[in-house]
Amino acid sequence: METIDLTALRAYSRETGQPTHPEMLDTRPIEHVNKIEIDEEHITITFDQKTTRYYNANEILQREWIYKYNDDPEFVRAVARVIDIARKHLKDLPATISCPPGCAECCSGYEPFVSRADLQRIADHLGMSTADVMREYVVERPSADGFHLGWLRKVTDDVADQCVFLKGSRSGRYYCGIYPARPGDCRDFTPIGCEDVDDELPHDAHFKLGAAFSPKRRNGSRTRR
Ligand code: SF4
Ligand code: SF4
Repeated sequence: METIDLTALRAYSRETGQPTHPEMLDTRPIEHVNKIEIDEEHITITFDQKTTRYYNANEILQREWIYKYNDDPEFVRAVARVIDIARKHLKDLPATISCPPGCAECCSGYEPFVSRADLQRIADHLGMSTADVMREYVVERPSADGFHLGWLRKVTDDVADQCVFLKGSRSGRYYCGIYPARPGDCRDFTPIGCEDVDDELPHDAHFKLGAAFSPKRRNGSRTRR
């Protein structure tokens, strides 16, 4: 895991546009960086946000540092590096906050939306036509912008039931039956803030997956394009 030492940012204590008289500079170090935002011209860092609680009032201290690009190349490079690393590792999750293998609570109760690209990927994966995948596995409900076509069906009409592609019911060790082709919604799902996690399942366990999902045969043959 790559890391960057944010304490290096503490060295910077000059605010763009501030007069350069030392007595007028804000020389307090950055203790906590709360947010970094970039737009076409500026890098804005919100830092040292803290709430001091008094008997009858709260004081919220929040400072913002706005830098123009190229205003301080060394600083901009440091921030760019932080952003690069953050983007690169955006989806890394420590083991303690990844889903324990076998948990699939969220494959019940949630209805992953299906985009046109999802539909095509699932159809290719199953060797079916997109029309057949729509009919068999998608509840049609196009979004207003036309991006989503509907959501994945459940095994029954009960929306709290399992996703039609969920496997492992017999062993209780669940897995996605179309994992390489699952919709974007399922790919983007993280267990951060998840309250449904099956705590009985250990994080370090591995189990052998069973067969992948296979479409029902119709008239003795698989539906093909
Ligand atoms: S497609 Fe796979 S990951 Fe997504 S809800 Fe269904 S079983 Fe779960
Ligand atoms: S831990 Fe949470 S997000 Fe992960 S599979 Fe279980 S219910 Fe879903």
